[in-house]
Amino acid sequence: MFPLDDTIAAISTPMGEGGIGIVRLSGPRARAILSRVFVAAASRPLESHRFSYGHIVVPETQETVDQVLAVWMCAPRTYTRQDVAEIHCHGGIVPLQRTLGLVLSCGARLAQPGEFTLRAFVNGRIDLAQAEAVLDIVRAKTEASLRVAVGQLDGHVSGPVRRIRQSLLEALAHLDASLDFPEDEIPPLDLVAVLGQAQEQIRGLLAGANQGIIYRQGVRTAIVGRPNVGKSSLLNALLHTSRAIVTPIPGTTRDTLEETLNLRGIPLCLVDTAGITESDDLIEKLGIERSRQAMEQADLIFLVIDGSAPVQAQDVALADAVRNRPAILVVNKMDLPVVAAHETLAPGVRHVRISALTGEGLPVLENAIVETVFSGQVQTSDIPLISNPRHCEILGRALTHVTTAQDGHQAGLGADLVAVDLTTAVNALGEITGETVGEDVLDAIFSNFCLGK
Ligand code: GDP
Repeated sequence: MFPLDDTIAAISTPMGEGGIGIVRLSGPRARAILSRVFVAAASRPLESHRFSYGHIVVPETQETVDQVLAVWMCAPRTYTRQDVAEIHCHGGIVPLQRTLGLVLSCGARLAQPGEFTLRAFVNGRIDLAQAEAVLDIVRAKTEASLRVAVGQLDGHVSGPVRRIRQSLLEALAHLDASLDFPEDEIPPLDLVAVLGQAQEQIRGLLAGANQGIIYRQGVRTAIVGRPNVGKSSLLNALLHTSRAIVTPIPGTTRDTLEETLNLRGIPLCLVDTAGITESDDLIEKLGIERSRQAMEQADLIFLVIDGSAPVQAQDVALADAVRNRPAILVVNKMDLPVVAAHETLAPGVRHVRISALTGEGLPVLENAIVETVFSGQVQTSDIPLISNPRHCEILGRALTHVTTAQDGHQAGLGADLVAVDLTTAVNALGEITGETVGEDVLDAIFSNFCLGK
């Protein structure tokens, strides 16, 4: 269903200026195409898995395009299990695009996004969960996200899922045999125990999934509050940078700013919004609309209040808006004299007193963030195995069917009926590793990859 017999090529490094940039090829003609455009400085034949220094040239004119290092890697010990060639050019847009243009004119086809990894999957070098882990590694926001993703590439999801699936397949084979042969002719199998163990193992995988998903996707966090309470200062204090403009004039943060912050391994995507207030100013109105949207889309809200000023109607309105949402009431400017009991604004909402100016209270705020994100669950130091919502959904489905099979079996249901649920569970688990997945799912997964990966 996916072509493998042509040779694909793409620029595999980000576009921009850099030390080096890589044009990668994969397919049966990788070596032939490389030989057309690459002239080695030493006149030795290309040796597999060995870099050669030389030049990229226009085949027809021998005009030099760039000085490069090139490597040809003979299948199957390659990323795609096909012949692969890499040309390490100077990292500029022009040398890379000219080199890519040359290999395309020599018969390579421009690769689709994710097509190298797709070939690795189709050729069985990695399974689907591992292919997804490759993208998660590229996109990892914190070291914790990276550890989870690298674990998955190493098979920390695929291994257990395969073992569970295998045990269910054996149970299925047993059920099938019991339909065809009298009981004394087939070896006994404790189906209750086998299914019970599978349930246990699936639950074990799912146990850390929420934490894993947070590490992988991050937490969208909106910072809201009326103008001048210190939202931008809080963002800056948390970021230890100064991307947001801090000024004493209200309403200058007219648009929203977004920054990702690594908070003890949790990627916090912070959205600083324009002060929520009623305003006639058109630009500011747009900003306010964005604030409301940001609040609606947020996984976590920081409602910032100026602790040195009396409570205002807007503070009360905002406090009402965050009720029943995962929110933290941040009472700022604690370096100044306190004028009101702001904590009573939002009963039931966790509150923390800080000074964005002096940094006082920030560690307490960080603790509050971690506790709120994991909703009171203890953040274990164990690396969660599951972090991909797709895997999570599939495991949930598989667990339901194994449980139905178990209940049916214990209630004395016929083997054929129990087998129906087991088959569904087996097929579901195969969607994680890719054995039983449709082309549409593969398309959806690999189209998320960047070009050249
Ligand atoms: P925003 O409009 O809510 O984003 O507020 P800003 O971050 O722009 O801050 C408004 C003003 O309050 C600036 O002059 C800040 O220096 C000041 N400010 C912010 N946080 C603190 C704080 O913790 N203590 C004091 N004393 N001033 C602060």
